[in-house]
Amino acid sequence: MSDQQARDLSAARAASGLDVRALGLFVHGDSDTLDSRTRISQTLARDPLFAGPAPVSRPDVYARSMAQMNRLYDLQETNGWTEHDVEAAMGMLGEGTGMTLHHSAFVPVFLAQASPELLKQFGTLVRTRGVIGCYLQTELAHGSNVGGLQTTATYLSESDEFELNTPTPGARKWWIGALGRTATHGVLQAQLILKGKSYGPHLFFVQLRDTETHAPLPGVTIGDIGPKVHNAWRATDNGFASFEKVRVPRTWMLSRYAQVTRTGDYVRPPHAKIAYGGMMYLRAGFTATAGWTLAKAITIAIRYATIRRQGALDPTSVDPSVSIPGAPVLEMPVLRYPSTYARLLPVLARAYVLIGLGRSVIATFKAFSESLANGDTSALGEMHALTSALKVYATNTAVRDIEVARQSMGGHGFSAAGGIGRIWAQYLPSVTFEGDNFVLDHQVVRAAVKAHARVSQADFKSQPSSLSPSSAYLRLLSASPPTFGSIEDWGDVRKLAMLLEMRAARVVAARASSDDDVHDPGAAARVSNAVAAAFVGVQVADMADGLDSSGLGKREQVAITRLYVLFLQSDLESGLGDLYQFGLLQGEDTGRTLRRALGRTCMDLLPDAVVLVDAFAFQDWELNSALGAADGRAYARLIERAEEDEMNVDEEHARMVFEESIRPILERGRRMAVKELAAKTKL
Ligand SMILES: Cc1cc2nc3c(=O)[nH]c(=O)nc-3n(C[C@H](O)[C@H](O)[C@H](O)COP(=O)(O)OP(=O)(O)OC[C@H]3O[C@@H](n4cnc5c(N)ncnc54)[C@H](O)[C@@H]3O)c2cc1C
Repeated sequence: MSDQQARDLSAARAASGLDVRALGLFVHGDSDTLDSRTRISQTLARDPLFAGPAPVSRPDVYARSMAQMNRLYDLQETNGWTEHDVEAAMGMLGEGTGMTLHHSAFVPVFLAQASPELLKQFGTLVRTRGVIGCYLQTELAHGSNVGGLQTTATYLSESDEFELNTPTPGARKWWIGALGRTATHGVLQAQLILKGKSYGPHLFFVQLRDTETHAPLPGVTIGDIGPKVHNAWRATDNGFASFEKVRVPRTWMLSRYAQVTRTGDYVRPPHAKIAYGGMMYLRAGFTATAGWTLAKAITIAIRYATIRRQGALDPTSVDPSVSIPGAPVLEMPVLRYPSTYARLLPVLARAYVLIGLGRSVIATFKAFSESLANGDTSALGEMHALTSALKVYATNTAVRDIEVARQSMGGHGFSAAGGIGRIWAQYLPSVTFEGDNFVLDHQVVRAAVKAHARVSQADFKSQPSSLSPSSAYLRLLSASPPTFGSIEDWGDVRKLAMLLEMRAARVVAARASSDDDVHDPGAAARVSNAVAAAFVGVQVADMADGLDSSGLGKREQVAITRLYVLFLQSDLESGLGDLYQFGLLQGEDTGRTLRRALGRTCMDLLPDAVVLVDAFAFQDWELNSALGAADGRAYARLIERAEEDEMNVDEEHARMVFEESIRPILERGRRMAVKELAAKTKL
């Protein structure tokens, strides 16, 4: 049986003929990245600490994950891995660890915002993990409203120190990754109090635990907040902390921008939002992470849908083990049903787009950070608007699409052995942390409406080229929409991107004339989505233009172009309501043609689906899925996993449950049956 599935996956690969290596180089960016990733993954695959089964209890999961991190740093030291290699390896683990926040939040925020003096004192230790950090912002009672945080840092001029306090139970730091068991230090958001006056939240470097004994320092109360939903995030020790009269030197305020003088006077930062740089760094990474997470889920789903046969007979199939020559004997691979591939291929397209876009967002952010470091704050507003809009767009997309992929796998998609449920649960809080998506929507809308107001001014109309990339769509405020007469028109990426831009312009103009959230509560989310989709659409068209110089062969270029077209068609199809509402499309046929064009793009892509997911180059241990392994032997793996499951191997446990509960249930049932039968015979 499993031979047939292996044959199906090999046949799908052979039928495509696309060059998987060339596509792998394209999606990973270059051969160094792809080859070092493969080398690292193969190293970890040989180590049972990484590829072996996960423990059951949460403390054991945490312990194993810290052992994995210790091994990774050891491998870094012995093999000369770069920091980037370590972070690539961490990405392969499939879940966060007690060290994740050190890498993703503590180090970048500390390095970007500590004063030169503090950097000199701790910069090296922070980088080499001689101290392990966390990022303490959220409190029990406040998260989104950063201004409302209640932890205080009061300057004491007599000792030249800050005193940190948690004034109320609601001011306890809560949800802080790595705080529960791991971190020795952290950066803490607290209200800065100078001479009795509050200057709002600022960041402070703080020591939490003794670096020798790991015991909490005097005045610091710390613990883990307990398990999370869906059994997710088990390896991360999200924690709580409160502070009572904890002292830190004045120089431990992260004072690269805002400062406090020896006399307790406040020195303002050059730009009110300059300290948001750290947060933006975190947000800039979301697009690529969303893409790679989707890539994992869609690899599993497409491989499984290729080997899963059910329903109608497949006219192209011939089973060599059956004697009637040439007769179709196998059922259809479920991927070939239009209602399956039309769900999965747009997800594949979005994975490719988010990965490519994510790379360019990070490059843009790096250039922005360099300008910021040189005191140029001119791009702060644009970067904030862009990273916020993309964070919402990418995370909403990935959370929705991972579940689409899981549902496409029918019953086995609900098995933990399938692997997608775990990916989804792990990814889920991305829509909440680093800015709740619904809260960020309002910020995106505010920036868009502000840009619209500027564009509407008379003197601006003569220079539309001065629009920033995130608001460039506003140049089309009163432009006439392109016409879409034929299916071919719906394959023109520039035209499709322009339609997304026009939709954004119309949606923002409507919002600018009426910001009534009470009567239209979903408006902010719709506007934010339209603005992000317009920006992404233009990027996709640019990426399509760049394919000629990508080094890809002609056939591979055609396949990637189809993915880009499908991405845009799918976004427009889900926005048909807006497009008709704002008069950008006319006539029943136009929408119908779009849907037919989308169906055709899917059919064109279908033969290449397996190779396009192979190009992501995940090793089996990373996917950790019985259904999505590279050899296609899904049923054999499901059987193996079931046979090894703890419900099947512990006979003593089975006997204990039988004696304690099942036997009494059966015996009671028999007694009751005897009673009922006796009562009936009396009648
Ligand atoms: C897994 C995980 C890890 C985390 N790690 C960390 C960490 O390491 N460090 C850290 O500091 N924090 C961390 N957090 C906390 C996280 O950053 C916050 O939970 C997040 O910012 C949301 O804030 P909140 O919990 O206050 O939600 P709330 O703001 O209370 O949201 C509740 C609801 O109210 C809505 N809402 C709130 N305000 C508004 C508004 N102004 N307008 C419209 N709607 C609004 C929201 O949309 C949401 O639906 C983590 C959280 C999770 C889940």
